[in-house]
Amino acid sequence: MKILIAEDDPTSRIILIAIVSEWGYEPIPVADGEQALSILQTDDAPRLLLLDWEMPKIDGLALCKKIREEDTSNPPYIILLTGRSNTEDIVTGLKVGANDYIAKPFNNAELRARLQVGKRMLGLQDELNHAKEAMVFQANFDELTKLMNRRAVMKAMASEIERSKRNSQPLYICMCDIDHFKKINDTHGHLAGDAVLKEIAQRFNNSLRPYDLCGRYGGEEFLIILNSKENYVHNLFERIRLAIANEPFIYEETVLDITISCGVTLYNSHSDLRNTTQILIDADTALYEAKNSGRNRTVFTAT
Ligand code: GH3
Ligand code: MG
Ligand code: MG
Ligand code: MG
Repeated sequence: MKILIAEDDPTSRIILIAIVSEWGYEPIPVADGEQALSILQTDDAPRLLLLDWEMPKIDGLALCKKIREEDTSNPPYIILLTGRSNTEDIVTGLKVGANDYIAKPFNNAELRARLQVGKRMLGLQDELNHAKEAMVFQANFDELTKLMNRRAVMKAMASEIERSKRNSQPLYICMCDIDHFKKINDTHGHLAGDAVLKEIAQRFNNSLRPYDLCGRYGGEEFLIILNSKENYVHNLFERIRLAIANEPFIYEETVLDITISCGVTLYNSHSDLRNTTQILIDADTALYEAKNSGRNRTVFTAT
């Protein structure tokens, strides 16, 4: 683990470099607060910091303050090294954001133990951040397909509608359903069905543009939202449908022919008074028509 050692006194710096190296850390030495700050602004900057209080340009205290002004989910762990040992100074140091302090001349064993505490705290912080990221992912994305889940895609759809109202761009809302999917599960097993769902999501992602939206609305139903000019939209939806129908799916050496049916409704912000529920009902009605008229097709609601 890297440690930033900001210490202006060359002898103390050399000693610190030697002892932390011996304990297995990778020292990044600097001689003043300004250098420290520029190191901290690089990618992969050290997160365990040993800052001398008295330093030229920016002292340890001011540096602490600057570091804590940054809004980050990965704040560094700061140990102030100081010749000051009265309570008032210590309180000041901790108040501006130091996690710990160590009085000079320091005892090696104490410094080592305090660095270990810092390392442990950083480890806990990483775990917490990972758990938070995983929670955000779980709340918004579908575990199997990695597409947005129903809640997230509905929210995205609502904000697309708001945007469409502002910029008068037509919006196409498509409900997509795999044809005879139950048969895939019944014939080849649930795992084959899962693999198909995953691959469908991938094929959707490959055929959609970066600003299109796609989410798993339910079991084998997907919601796709496209911003498009009317003359392109039929091609876009054809591309999506054919991305599934034209290339067979292979599951454990078995070839599976999969198709989807799509129901599309246009949201036209000028005159459209429908809310999201009504829009989805219309897309669903078109989907029903696509199913009833033979599947593997896209039906648009009359506009
Ligand atoms: P249709 O063409 O009319 O849509 O027929 P279908 O068989 O696709 O429709 P139905 O609604 O009868 O069946 C949908 C199936 O999707 C039933 C359900 O078990 C399956 N399913 C839903 N979610 C999942 C999933 O996460 N994994 C797997 N393997 N199957 C799923
Ligand atoms: Mg100094
Ligand atoms: Mg269905
Ligand atoms: Mg189906």
